[in-house]
Amino acid sequence: MSETIQFLPPRQAVLSRRTAIIADLADLLPPDCLVHEPRELVPFETDAFVAYRRVPLAVVLPRTTAEVAAVMKYCHRYGVPVVPRGAGTSLSGGAIPQEDAVVLGLSKMSRILEVDYANRTATVQAGVTNLSISETVGADGFFYAPDPSSQLACTIGGNIGMNSGGAHCLKYGVTTNNLLGVKMVLVDGTVIELGGKHLDAAGYDLLGLVCGSEGQLGIVTEATVRLIAKPEGARPVLFGFDTSEEAGSCVADVIGSGIIPVAIEFMDKPAIEICEAFAHAGYPLDVGALLIVEVEGSEAEMDAMLKEIVEIAGRHGVKTVRESQSAMEAALIWKGRKSAFGATGRIADYICMDGTVPLGKLSYVLKKTSEITDSFGLRVANVFHAGDGNMHPLILFNANDPEDAAKAEAAGNEILKLCVDAGGCLTGEHGVGIEKRDLMRHQYSEADLAQQMAVRAAFDEGWILNPSKVFPLEGRPTT
Ligand SMILES: Cc1cc2nc3c(=O)[nH]c(=O)nc-3n(C[C@H](O)[C@H](O)[C@H](O)COP(=O)(O)OP(=O)(O)OC[C@H]3O[C@@H](n4cnc5c(N)ncnc54)[C@H](O)[C@@H]3O)c2cc1C
Repeated sequence: MSETIQFLPPRQAVLSRRTAIIADLADLLPPDCLVHEPRELVPFETDAFVAYRRVPLAVVLPRTTAEVAAVMKYCHRYGVPVVPRGAGTSLSGGAIPQEDAVVLGLSKMSRILEVDYANRTATVQAGVTNLSISETVGADGFFYAPDPSSQLACTIGGNIGMNSGGAHCLKYGVTTNNLLGVKMVLVDGTVIELGGKHLDAAGYDLLGLVCGSEGQLGIVTEATVRLIAKPEGARPVLFGFDTSEEAGSCVADVIGSGIIPVAIEFMDKPAIEICEAFAHAGYPLDVGALLIVEVEGSEAEMDAMLKEIVEIAGRHGVKTVRESQSAMEAALIWKGRKSAFGATGRIADYICMDGTVPLGKLSYVLKKTSEITDSFGLRVANVFHAGDGNMHPLILFNANDPEDAAKAEAAGNEILKLCVDAGGCLTGEHGVGIEKRDLMRHQYSEADLAQQMAVRAAFDEGWILNPSKVFPLEGRPTT
């Protein structure tokens, strides 16, 4: 694939000391916590934004906060870039390393440290997978709400890095709304704690700043997250429409009516076909767009909410309404939705865009998205968190054809600009990473960006933490 996104040029002073750096890191860590043989570094060369790859200088996999602190102290002293990494499922290239960087992987820090039902919290190490929290507390009637489709693999540290969301975040909020505290190692190895089990904290909201900071402000080693009691019942319902525009305007009216379902997910015709062929979820194939709306509560509460939603959908020409009749059917409906990216990968290479728009603009942006991909001669499948206005056009292309790949990137950029111009923003949940870095100027003024970079530099003056990401390369403060 052609590379249109630039990385920072590697620091020659670091590259020329590679052997010494590896020897020093070996002194700081147990032998099984350091990876430096070239072929063993290959699995760390990219993340789920696979178009770009760089083999890092070395990988460290510490087991404790003290080991993370020792590595950071060393790298800070010698100006060695560090790229934090959870499971490497970032779709914006957030965890892609650079040649002069040490990848700091949190995968060995995967213990649930405490479950505290009295305070409804769980305290976990950063490398714990998202799903394992809900699995641990599920039998006791609790769950952790943010549910990225990658939840089987992605880590809490990565979720904090990207402020991740998921299908069920419409009602419960995204990571930042469910994060109460972190233990974090600063760039020079200092360990700090932000927040805790309490609801609010005195002073500046640094926890809010850290959530979504894409590994640029420090390394999160532990997190305290909110646990939520499971509802009495939950029911996903399928609403089929002839057109994407009808489905989009229905979403805006449901939210505008004051009803907050747990989830409203959208699929257009290509997405329905792709997911149905993979999951056999029972999605209707004779519709142009599908909403999966999930309500929860007692039977009476769910019935009342659904009655209102069906009435609203009726005003938008709904063609099919189908309630799941069993737990197995409900699980299949969600399996289809949550495997959308994997199912798409079976038929073509794709890049997944992640723009957010005001709900009133959903129909307009969907229409324009098709026009953009048509103008590039590319196919698109839309599957996304409609209730949050968080769009995910999957642009299909052939990665072995550099021209096709360049067209896909160009179409993706146009779509993200469209989201911004419609009053939305460049990212809903996947972060800026390397993918959207050069579009930041479309969203922000020079003054806005300078202020954000000043905050970043207050944490990391030498810009060694995940340095190629988030901010355009030109116009950065010189270090
Ligand atoms: C099939 C698929 C489906 C997906 N579905 C969703 C979805 O529904 N919703 C959603 O929001 N995302 C989704 N994603 C994207 C991705 O899973 C999320 O961004 C996730 O939070 C990344 O977690 P990770 O552990 O893989 O982190 P990584 O990809 O390893 O890292 C992500 C970022 O966080 C930083 N980071 C990682 N760990 C730490 C740490 N301990 N301290 C500081 N910084 C850290 C990294 O430097 C990087 O910038 C999906 C991805 C895939 C492949």
